[in-house]
Amino acid sequence: MTTKETFSFQSEGKQLLDLMIHSVYSHREIFLRELISNASDGLDKLRVASLTDEGLRALFADPHIRLAADGEARTLSVSDNGIGMNRDDLVAYLGTIAKSGTKEFLRRLTESGEPLTAELIGQFGVGFYASFMVADAVEVLTRKAGDGQAWLWRSSGDGTYTIEEADRDGQGTTVTLHLKAPGQEEDEEEDFTDPLTIRSIVRRYSDFVAYPIRMKGDGGDEVLNSMKAIWSRSESEVTDEEYAEFYRHLSHDWADPLERIVYSVEGLTTFRALLFLPSKASLDLFLREGDRGIQLYVKRVFIMQDCKELIPEYLRFLRGIVDSDDLPLNLSREILQKDRQIALIRRSLTRKVLEELKSLKEKNPETYLAFWKEFGPVLKEGIFADEKNRQALLALALFQTTEREWISLEDYIAAMKPDQKALYYLSGGSLEGLRRSPHLEAFRERGYEVLLFDHPVDDFWSGVVESHGDRPLRSVAKGAADLDDLPGVKADVAEGEDRYEGLLKALGEALSEEVSAVRLSRRLTQSPACLVGEAHSMTPQMEELLRSMGQPVPKNRRVLEVNAAHPLLEGLLRRHGEERDLTDEARLLYGQAVLAEGGKLDDPAHFARLLADLLARDVGREGLRT
Ligand code: ADP
Repeated sequence: MTTKETFSFQSEGKQLLDLMIHSVYSHREIFLRELISNASDGLDKLRVASLTDEGLRALFADPHIRLAADGEARTLSVSDNGIGMNRDDLVAYLGTIAKSGTKEFLRRLTESGEPLTAELIGQFGVGFYASFMVADAVEVLTRKAGDGQAWLWRSSGDGTYTIEEADRDGQGTTVTLHLKAPGQEEDEEEDFTDPLTIRSIVRRYSDFVAYPIRMKGDGGDEVLNSMKAIWSRSESEVTDEEYAEFYRHLSHDWADPLERIVYSVEGLTTFRALLFLPSKASLDLFLREGDRGIQLYVKRVFIMQDCKELIPEYLRFLRGIVDSDDLPLNLSREILQKDRQIALIRRSLTRKVLEELKSLKEKNPETYLAFWKEFGPVLKEGIFADEKNRQALLALALFQTTEREWISLEDYIAAMKPDQKALYYLSGGSLEGLRRSPHLEAFRERGYEVLLFDHPVDDFWSGVVESHGDRPLRSVAKGAADLDDLPGVKADVAEGEDRYEGLLKALGEALSEEVSAVRLSRRLTQSPACLVGEAHSMTPQMEELLRSMGQPVPKNRRVLEVNAAHPLLEGLLRRHGEERDLTDEARLLYGQAVLAEGGKLDDPAHFARLLADLLARDVGREGLRT
């Protein structure tokens, strides 16, 4: 006797389903593309499994997809004889709609009241659930390759689904849609059981699928797709729309790609590549759990999904295929890592992609900026990781500065003052925080533009880049600012330096736990003090990042620089002359320097108390006066 179990979708899943069902989305026919893509993936998976599993080899015979429609019963089904699913797979894959990042995404969607568009939905990879846009109920009858038992999954999109034992001839999956009654939606004219409609949807969205998509016609079986590998056709023969559909098929993205790269190489290694830059970063870009990257084919035969060896990690946002003529068909993951052909392809693809990005940047700055905003932080990982292409990647980078938005280093250098010796930057924290940082004062006064690095990845690469072009790269928050060399500044400070010696020493002793030294500043014009790192020390943000990753980070004491031109210093000098204890003043000075750069105090309560005492004294004095 079979038992039927009932399950609930997790809450985000329910919310997402509701959105799908009730959104009035104008291209509902894309549900079919999603089901065919899943069927094609299922066949790919069986092919790959059959390479290493003798038992499965015989099952990968006549791989195909079959569509069947019944106008009277109002059903449409999509079947494949691919990998299939067991009970656990069904729960894991079809019971878990929402993937990582979904909760956050839904919250934003509800808060902003933004309408649910195909692009937004597509970011989740909710492919299968698109069925609920056209169906009241969906059934999945499936049997995993190699298993005897089949299962039936059923849901009416109401928050629950059931799974029960079932029978199925052979391995594979059949998804049956019980279509909504026609005319239920205002603009619903299409009848998805009509062979003409089905044929045209398949041709439009799924023509290049590598397995035959069959349907019973009047004169027997008919194959609806041409199965022609889109990358083996010349670029002039393929329309933009066809490329876009192919991109959607393999990326499971619903939006158009931003750009495509069609590339073929003959020689030491022979291959064709068709790569796409997505228009939006996927939710898992930084979680690194995505599994859609570059598909590998050997002589038109699908070998594997997401072949990570083909491109460096900092290009992991690319989607597409590589089809090699030289690799063996029975390629294993282990061989891949050592294969010389793969290394050649990877080098060649990397170079090509960087060239294409360079030309996009030159020819189409607007598109490039859109690309950079989505993927710049990922590309910047390469500046750190790929020494060979470091300068090329630096040339691709766009930055915010104290003066301008999104400029390249080239633009920055072009606008440099004649007496400016280095490329200056300030890193860490938010853009607004950076813009207000006291470290910038003297630079701003001299009219020097400063690059602002506000992404955590900037701390990594700026630590390894010494220069660009023939200019050194310098942090304005590290070392003694090069402002020393400028006429005027040096003389001013040097003259009075002796006067401050005793005070600086006293402040240094009071803060011996926190700072390595206290010295007069050449970079401050308004603020009383700021903290400065050694030329090669880690930034506070980097220390925090490493600590949050569980790495031991030694306490790095920086230098406290004080501004001789600030009235506070005169006062301190006087108190020091009167031989008063300056511990509290030193702590206040240090604390406000930490806060001014957007940092966190080790003991905020203590700082707050000092500040309150100071305020009380000031207010008290005022009381006496009046
Ligand atoms: P996506 O395809 O973007 O991962 P879907 O919601 O369309 O998301 O499908 C979820 C998962 O269900 C797939 O990743 C796959 O593991 C499984 N699946 C769906 N359809 C099939 C099928 N026809 N054959 C085998 N597995 C399938």
